[in-house]
Amino acid sequence: MKQLYINGAWLDGASSSANINPSNTNDVIGHYALADAQQTELAIAAAAAAAPGWALSNIQQRADALDKIGSEILARREELGTLLSREEGKTRPEGIGEVVRAGNIFKFYAAECLRLRGDKLPSVRPNLDVEVTREPVGVVGIIAPWNFPIAIPSWKIAPALAYGNCVVMKPAELVPASTWALTEIISRAGLPPGVFNLVMGHGSVVGQALLNDRRVNAISFTGSVATGKKVAMAAMGRLAKVQIEMGGKNPLIVLDDADLATAVFCAVQGSYFSTGQRCTASSRLIVGKNIYPRFVAAVKQELAKLNVGDALTAGTDIGPVVDANQLEQDMNYIRIGRDEGATLAFGGERLDGPTPGFYLRPALLTDASNDMRISREEIFGPVASVIPADSYEHALALANDTEFGLSSGIVTTSLKHATHFKRHAQAGMVMVNVPTAGVDYHVPFGGTKASSYGAREQGSYAAEFFTTVKTAYCGV
Ligand code: NAD
Repeated sequence: MKQLYINGAWLDGASSSANINPSNTNDVIGHYALADAQQTELAIAAAAAAAPGWALSNIQQRADALDKIGSEILARREELGTLLSREEGKTRPEGIGEVVRAGNIFKFYAAECLRLRGDKLPSVRPNLDVEVTREPVGVVGIIAPWNFPIAIPSWKIAPALAYGNCVVMKPAELVPASTWALTEIISRAGLPPGVFNLVMGHGSVVGQALLNDRRVNAISFTGSVATGKKVAMAAMGRLAKVQIEMGGKNPLIVLDDADLATAVFCAVQGSYFSTGQRCTASSRLIVGKNIYPRFVAAVKQELAKLNVGDALTAGTDIGPVVDANQLEQDMNYIRIGRDEGATLAFGGERLDGPTPGFYLRPALLTDASNDMRISREEIFGPVASVIPADSYEHALALANDTEFGLSSGIVTTSLKHATHFKRHAQAGMVMVNVPTAGVDYHVPFGGTKASSYGAREQGSYAAEFFTTVKTAYCGV
């Protein structure tokens, strides 16, 4: 049984759960401890006790610890990537890629420890100096989703520690193994007890305990809109700092002047890879009327070439859906789309593999409109719909007509339209001639509208959330 990590020690949970491989439900990856509310409070108490010391820790000590963690993650990329793919279902190359991203994030924040800075300014009043400095927030509660089991915990844990905060980490119920392996690495990095704690468990128990406890000064959450809203309200109710990253309904515009091969690559890669289970996946393909028939035919041709299968088998392009509930949700939306009048032009059927798993052939729904439920609600699977557009202006209006605003893409050879789109797309991330999913690790990540709330994650912009600003006046 894999235990909880609290105050520098490994502890049994109140109960445990089995971690099941979505490529083969006969494969039990392991049994993972589940914390109850009291154990979560123990972790919070440990973090609160460690916080004053860690806030004053030497930046070289922090940099060395983060660098050590990053180096080990990178050195073990194949093993950790395999574990990740086994529990989440993205293909092994995708799993390894995610692990590399996590390692690089720790390396980035190791260096970021050495770039902490403030401002010293003249005062507008006589005989005064003013200093503006950044201080840690204190104890940070981290609540993560299942779709990036090591990258998302890493892009929250690394800046939290770098800027001098203590952490209580709660991974998603479906994917404890990757965060547990990360914790095991962190446990050997030389951090004082209580600086980092892992409490696996249910959102309604562990998550709720983090939200309720006044000793948790800040909550960083990624997940669905429904949970995100609850988390935000609870945190704000007791004036805790809060950062919420949620879903998307990301558009990819394909203009009539697009290079067809680029358009097809962006659509297929962005919509279906990682089984479409990326918050930045394109799910609305908004396509110019003239290129529409050629685009649909070429996308179907590409989809027919994709191997859907076991995430760990070489040659698999698309792994399984993460679990039975998500598979049912995906298939429901395909049904809803057809009932609403869209055409199922490719795939959408459940597939049997050599092992029992949640396999779904990527689905392409054509003749869709932007007011259908499949165009408005996040599906979070290998399902995309194609919506025709009369002009660039029409396509832009359709792209922006959504409650979400995470990533927004365009494929065009027109500099004028690309430039206009960068300025007018209502999204936190804009992509020109590249897929809507797939981002760098050293720059901000996040959205607008219902996709995000609070300060941006990643890059040096993460300091905004993980620190608080102090202004000090000194008479001279
Ligand atoms: P989810 O909202 O179901 O769960 C997210 C986390 O919240 C889990 O750890 C869960 O245990 C916890 N939780 C559940 N109820 C809670 C409660 N009452 N109090 C506190 N915590 C609680 O999301 P999911 O299904 O794990 O993830 C998929 C969603 O995540 C999708 O909507 C996807 O778009 C989104 N996502 C967003 C981003 C981004 O950066 N914008 C990145 C990845 C995934």
